[in-house]
Amino acid sequence: MNKQQNILIIGAGLCGSLLALRLGQRGYNVSVMEMRPDLRKVDISAGRSINLAFSDRGNKAMKLVGIEDKVKALCIPMNGRMLHDRSGNTVLSNYSGRDHEYINSISRGELNGLLLTEAEKHENVNIFFNRQCMSVDFEKTTALFQDYQTKHEFVEDADAIIATDGAGSAMRKSYYLGRKFLFSFSQEYLTHGYKELSILPTETGDYKTYKNALHIWPRGDFMLIALPNLDGSFTVTLFLHHSEGEYNFGNLTTPEIVKEFFQKEFPDALELMPNLVDDFFENPTAALGTVKCSPWYFKGNTLLMGDAAHAIVPFYGQGMNASFEDVVEFDKVLDQNLENWETILTTYEKTRKKDTDAIADLAIDNFHEMKDHVANPIFQEKRKLEMALEKNFPEDYSSKYSLVTFNEHIGYRNAMLKGRAQDKAILNMLADNEIDINDDLNKTLQKIKQETQEILEEDKIAGLK
Ligand SMILES: Cc1cc2nc3c(=O)[nH]c(=O)nc-3n(C[C@H](O)[C@H](O)[C@H](O)COP(=O)(O)OP(=O)(O)OC[C@H]3O[C@@H](n4cnc5c(N)ncnc54)[C@H](O)[C@@H]3O)c2cc1C
Repeated sequence: MNKQQNILIIGAGLCGSLLALRLGQRGYNVSVMEMRPDLRKVDISAGRSINLAFSDRGNKAMKLVGIEDKVKALCIPMNGRMLHDRSGNTVLSNYSGRDHEYINSISRGELNGLLLTEAEKHENVNIFFNRQCMSVDFEKTTALFQDYQTKHEFVEDADAIIATDGAGSAMRKSYYLGRKFLFSFSQEYLTHGYKELSILPTETGDYKTYKNALHIWPRGDFMLIALPNLDGSFTVTLFLHHSEGEYNFGNLTTPEIVKEFFQKEFPDALELMPNLVDDFFENPTAALGTVKCSPWYFKGNTLLMGDAAHAIVPFYGQGMNASFEDVVEFDKVLDQNLENWETILTTYEKTRKKDTDAIADLAIDNFHEMKDHVANPIFQEKRKLEMALEKNFPEDYSSKYSLVTFNEHIGYRNAMLKGRAQDKAILNMLADNEIDINDDLNKTLQKIKQETQEILEEDKIAGLK
């Protein structure tokens, strides 16, 4: 296909800026329209997660565009989860038994800024800020924009439009409202919302608590987490029910009750957060949800990608990683030199959607795991056993978490099927005393493998393949 084609990308967030960079490298003429001002010049801290967990699937995309080292410089390794109980006792539970497998904390703004800068190095990539997409005429392959400052409206056309405009995508809305084709769409809000808080650095700029971990205060129906930033601070996120439970976002309305809640549930965190009340009342409470839709494309004209196609809840730390992986998968389809955009877009969705559906479901699983199961003794025993298996049989065993997070060559769907079957096998056998952490590890591994295989066969018969 002629690479001199004009591609219009809507949204210069994490996915859009990476896509612009990759398509620029491939020689397309790329225009990107972003609703917000340039985040490298204006502090817009996006109103949402300040830092993110970045892992191997995301890194695969950074390798593809050749900026792995630049991204690494922005990363803080997190080797495991540091669990905090109500008395302030902590346990560090590694993410993997293999030392080279860890996740990273990275600043959304820094990473987005780097991707924009790298994309703009290509003469054939032009990024325009303060231009909000109002709607897309997917039959004509045109999009209507409004200039934020002048309010002037204008239409852009292109050979293909790719919308990477996030969970509230304007193009997805046009698909839905247009009723011109059979567009399926679901949006499920979680019962819990989130609010960002912070642990500031010490006066000398040091970290107030252990730096290289993702801190979790699991409390059954709600939780607090903290991820480190390069400046010595931590971004803390409270996940809490909107309206149910003794404490919820609906009734945490005064400084006294907020402090009472933290004193009771997270006393060790409260000690590190003298700024709690200010943060709590200054920062918004935001909703979380899962968006699934299909088809992502209209003929050969338009395509949804990233959160615009598949927004997920953040509990596997995979939304950005999955959106980056979208670009890698799209790139692979471009490598096939297919004859036209319609074939490219169809092929892309066919290969990709099963995996983004899977990570959406896994992210919900992990919500329950993080806020509740991690504190459960049998779950902790399972994790200990899995750590030992990964350490002693590095080529032979990967937990569900490792399959999803560190095995970027396996799709999310296969990681989910195998990981869930393994979890079921281990938990059942631990509960029935069929395996024990002190048994011969090799024998235990064989038992787990056999039981996992049987569960996978049963799942296949039950139609869950
Ligand atoms: C609380 C929270 C924590 C998270 N933690 C993690 C994590 O640890 N790890 C992880 O991998 N993922 C995480 N995620 C998910 C991650 O933030 C998203 O998956 C990721 O940002 C998706 O990238 P995107 O480019 O598709 O969308 P976005 O990052 O939302 O970017 C969309 C862009 O489009 C622009 N835009 C929107 N509408 C328009 C319009 N009409 N016209 C023009 N431009 C428009 C926006 O301004 C924005 O720049 C988290 C999400 C949340 C909410």
